[in-house]
Amino acid sequence: MRMIENIITPTPINGVLDHSATPIIDRFGRTFNYLRIAVNEKCNFRCIYCMPEEGVPFKPKNEILTTNEILRVVKVVSDLGVNKIRFTGGEPLLRGDIVKLVGKSSSTPGIESIHLTTNGVLLGRYAGNLKEAGLTGVNISIDTLNPEKFLQITRRDELVRAMEGLEAAKTAGIPFIKVNAVALRGFNDSEIVEFVELTKDYPLTVRFIELMPFDAHQIWKTGKFFSAEHIQKELKDHFPEIKTTDGTATEHAIFQIPNYAGKVAVIPSYSRNLCGNCNRIRITADGKLLNCLYSQNETNLRDAIRIGKSDMQIGEMIRGTMKNKFKDGWEAQNQGSAKRESMTQIGG
Ligand code: SAM
Repeated sequence: MRMIENIITPTPINGVLDHSATPIIDRFGRTFNYLRIAVNEKCNFRCIYCMPEEGVPFKPKNEILTTNEILRVVKVVSDLGVNKIRFTGGEPLLRGDIVKLVGKSSSTPGIESIHLTTNGVLLGRYAGNLKEAGLTGVNISIDTLNPEKFLQITRRDELVRAMEGLEAAKTAGIPFIKVNAVALRGFNDSEIVEFVELTKDYPLTVRFIELMPFDAHQIWKTGKFFSAEHIQKELKDHFPEIKTTDGTATEHAIFQIPNYAGKVAVIPSYSRNLCGNCNRIRITADGKLLNCLYSQNETNLRDAIRIGKSDMQIGEMIRGTMKNKFKDGWEAQNQGSAKRESMTQIGG
């Protein structure tokens, strides 16, 4: 990836930026049109690779973005060419205003799709309303299809409700459904076939995700890491007839079994070999902008909003932060000091 010398900077016309002509772009020419925003830090699960049973030091409510602040950010980024939003967390369905956030965001000019990442447990309750509010896609995190292992990994006996959530998403007709499983050696590598079978009759995507080094207890150092390359090899061993197909920018390899309705993807979130395709802006639940999942520098949008900065000023903060994105997540992880103890504080 080559550094670009002259980035086009937007010129205000009568004090108003023509944002549509000036996308958010970085030194390497990457364009950012996708915002992932955590809407809370709290979660009803305690996945062992994410959070200890006692939780992490959650921020007080007054430090978390309010409904209007989240919608303000959505409006500002939509003016800068962002057309895709994902609400994540923490567990986004624990937020009472989630249907409103989806509905208002989907009617924001320029926003073409709204997605949600959830553990699925409360989806049975919300799927219909979310679809009606305009939800385009849902990623449901389910690491194992075995109830005892589910309890072991999430510390909650909720596989049945998570699977009911998946069924509710199908029944509601949410257009894009993905099941995310963090691939863990010696834990769920024996379940690859069962996961792939979820794609047989329904056009959903099952995604195997590499474990990342984000939890304070560093579970990932315990030999459970299972690389994208190895996952692909296992897939090919189990399904020799598997074919490659198309997916999103950060899906390392996307496959389909002939005559299966859905797809299977592998996400190299630790290997970081797709950083050149990155199109993501991340905002934490407390309103800090991160220009990379691995970034330890943050830009405080919440305080900028609270002291009354204009849309244009906030937009320029976003543009400036994204412009300075490092070449890849390896460089990013070695800079800055904003240490976080869990994906729940970053926004998974
Ligand atoms: N509560 C929602 C959920 O369960 O999907 C959204 C937040 S959760 C932090 C988002 C995703 O991050 C989940 O799929 C979870 O498995 C994943 N995750 C958390 N910690 C991780 C880690 N250390 N490595 C890889 N994935 C992780």
